[in-house]
Amino acid sequence: MAATITATRRVLVVGGGNCGLALALGLQKARIPYTLFERDGEGDFLNRSRDWDMLLHWGDEYLRKLIPKRLHGRLNEATVDPDYNFKSNERLPQLDADTGEIMRYVEMPLLTRMSRKRLRMFLIREQNLNIKFGKRVTRADLDSTDEVSLDFEDGSRVQGACIIGCDGSRSRMRDFLCGAKAKPEQVDLTMINHVARYPAKVAKTIRMQMHHPIVQLGFSKEQVATLLADSQERLRYYRERASKLCEPYRTAALALTDNELLPVDREQQWSPFPWDNRGGKVTLAGDADIRCFLVNRGQGLKNAVKDASELVDALTAVYKGQKCLEEAIASYEAEMIPRGANEIRLTQLVAEKRRDMKNNDPMILKGLQKAE
Ligand SMILES: Cc1cc2nc3c(=O)[nH]c(=O)nc-3n(C[C@H](O)[C@H](O)[C@H](O)COP(=O)(O)OP(=O)(O)OC[C@H]3O[C@@H](n4cnc5c(N)ncnc54)[C@H](O)[C@@H]3O)c2cc1C
Repeated sequence: MAATITATRRVLVVGGGNCGLALALGLQKARIPYTLFERDGEGDFLNRSRDWDMLLHWGDEYLRKLIPKRLHGRLNEATVDPDYNFKSNERLPQLDADTGEIMRYVEMPLLTRMSRKRLRMFLIREQNLNIKFGKRVTRADLDSTDEVSLDFEDGSRVQGACIIGCDGSRSRMRDFLCGAKAKPEQVDLTMINHVARYPAKVAKTIRMQMHHPIVQLGFSKEQVATLLADSQERLRYYRERASKLCEPYRTAALALTDNELLPVDREQQWSPFPWDNRGGKVTLAGDADIRCFLVNRGQGLKNAVKDASELVDALTAVYKGQKCLEEAIASYEAEMIPRGANEIRLTQLVAEKRRDMKNNDPMILKGLQKAE
């Protein structure tokens, strides 16, 4: 049996995705004792093969609050193209992907497209964070003493003042907290989301045909959902579908090599509701507490860094003796729960309105922007 880790009055963060890492940085900055426990071993964690891009956008303000000042000028290192300087007010093109017609430009202040992988590396590198890798949480004891404890797959146990579950959309901590109500709802949407590399000549051709150097959205009338378990069959299907689209989607798909793996995700959503947080000893953040399906609003990263920022403020008040834990976590949840429920509601509404591609409803124009 591995050694028991003991320590008192520290925050236990479960999960080292971009939410957990941003939270750990914020706690470190605020000098609050914490340990972050990540399921994957360090090698696997740093070398994950899968990546995807995310708009940071209105999350920029919260991320900057959490990271050290010396990193503010270096955030570009975590974007999809560190050589491109995003302007303060970019316009995001949205196209009819069947005809190539531009349907609209959406004003996007602070549009910044992050690479999930690069952002993780950026948040972890040189920061000396207190992370324990290879620590899969299997059980949480939330009730026995005034402290809480976590059990790990390797047989070790740790105690602390409170637990923040940042363990993603299939959160184990959510299971402990919400029981049967923790299960996300499947949405009738299937997504293939992948990052591809191209020879320089092809990459140049693709970029030259885009209406923004980094990002544009294309919508096709033909919306087909399919899971296709066989990877070769999936690639064949993808190329066949894309060959009917306008450029650069057509070239981008047809130039993929036969070895390209196209990950397929069944979309799901989960909306937070008031739960028994055991006097503030446990709560959730990031995809563990708000899981919107992605295609229409893509709000996960922004809400995750906002959660982390709100939690650092709440815990700072506790560690300064200004609030008790129960009061601080209650005020965090009082802001986060309605924000999360609103995100789910808006995502559904935008998805519904988007069935008509030409619909210029203000809600679609605002689609990716911060909820009011
Ligand atoms: C394909 C895809 C595309 C996306 N695109 C966008 C986008 O365009 N815009 C946007 O804003 N958002 C997007 N998102 C959402 C975005 O990636 C997340 O909201 C954001 O990265 C925050 O994630 P997180 O840290 O909460 O969870 P995750 O990144 O899932 O991290 C959870 C961590 O917890 C660890 N873990 C899990 N279980 C345990 C356990 N039992 N014990 C210990 N550790 C555990 C995992 O190993 C993982 O490292 C996308 C998501 C997906 C899947």
